[in-house]
Amino acid sequence: MRSIQMVDTRTQYHNIKDEVDKAVIDVMESSAFINGKPVQDFANNLSLYLGVKHTIPCANGTDALQIAMMALGLQPGDEVITPSFTYIATTEVIALLKLKPVFVEVDSKTFCIDPVAIEKAITSKTKAIVPVHLYGHAAKMEEIMAIAKKHNLYVIEDNAQAIGCDYTFTDGSKKKTGTIGHIGCTSFYPSKNLGAFGDGGAIFTNDDELAVKLKMTANHGQSKRYYHDVVGCNSRLDTIQAVILDIKLKHLDEYIVARRKVADYYDKAFAGNKKIQTPYRAPYSHHVFHQYTLLLEGVDRDGLNQFLAEQQVPSMIYYPVPGHKQKMFAQFNAASQVLPVTDWLTERVISLPIHTEMDEEQLLFITSKVLEYINK
Ligand SMILES: *Cc1c(COP(=O)(O)O)cnc(C)c1O
Repeated sequence: MRSIQMVDTRTQYHNIKDEVDKAVIDVMESSAFINGKPVQDFANNLSLYLGVKHTIPCANGTDALQIAMMALGLQPGDEVITPSFTYIATTEVIALLKLKPVFVEVDSKTFCIDPVAIEKAITSKTKAIVPVHLYGHAAKMEEIMAIAKKHNLYVIEDNAQAIGCDYTFTDGSKKKTGTIGHIGCTSFYPSKNLGAFGDGGAIFTNDDELAVKLKMTANHGQSKRYYHDVVGCNSRLDTIQAVILDIKLKHLDEYIVARRKVADYYDKAFAGNKKIQTPYRAPYSHHVFHQYTLLLEGVDRDGLNQFLAEQQVPSMIYYPVPGHKQKMFAQFNAASQVLPVTDWLTERVISLPIHTEMDEEQLLFITSKVLEYINK
């Protein structure tokens, strides 16, 4: 059996090696390492794939979120509503810009921000909502957009874990996550569903005026060369990453199918086990399974994590400490917030290996080891 990894970017590379190697060598020959034509080509192709008007490439997903908040002109003290149950990047940039993160509860089934909790947290200082499509499952965007409209708030989607995910509205129409809010942000970190061979990120919007501001903000606030109108930052996707991403974009749908096959296998293997809750798939979201995360009941979760490691089966706890309990947010007295669903999930989630290159032998081994521990 091939060794089991959380993600196997190496085998994925080997399957597209010839094309990737040639494209990278071409960039080296052209020596247009920054802002080469392939960067714009990739941005255009990604816009077409997502059905969005503007794609602004940048250096990573964290920058994408920061640039989004800067371009919206959010001011120190403005409140931004965000889930506590997410990767730290989502909430860190809020504090970095001297905005106030307001942590709210997630839905216990989808692990995504709860629209009811959002509405309760709105004050006169609230300016934006940052839903996260956690693990590859969409947040309830239709409700979130309705709340935003009613209260005149911006919505910035953190789509770092859900690129390619289809959201279905109640009228049956579909949109890709990351293109529904005022701005969408994503990451091309190597382990993400569309991963580069280094860092990368992108920002999406359908708003022409916002697109200009986002581009300016990502490029030293520059309106034309050497004329800087606003304070921005320097955040670029390099050309080598763009050509690699452009090749992988053509495979993204097939990568999603491969991930969903793994999820289906796990679902079947764990079906009916009272101690395991397999990932919920809401009817409005096409799950793209960035992570396959179980919710355990009456199981020593950390014991399982340890047992699997001894069997050479990696597993991960995403995330062991929720945002509101992180020391960095002590200044906001965040830990005093009562978020029972978030705390409950934090103690019970465990993510199993999922990627595009898994075989049945590996899946059989993983599921049998999980069940061996759980049923002992
Ligand atoms: C990965 C990730 C980010 C940050 O992306 P980087 O490219 O690592 O900066 C932000 N939010 C979520 C939910 C992520 O998973």
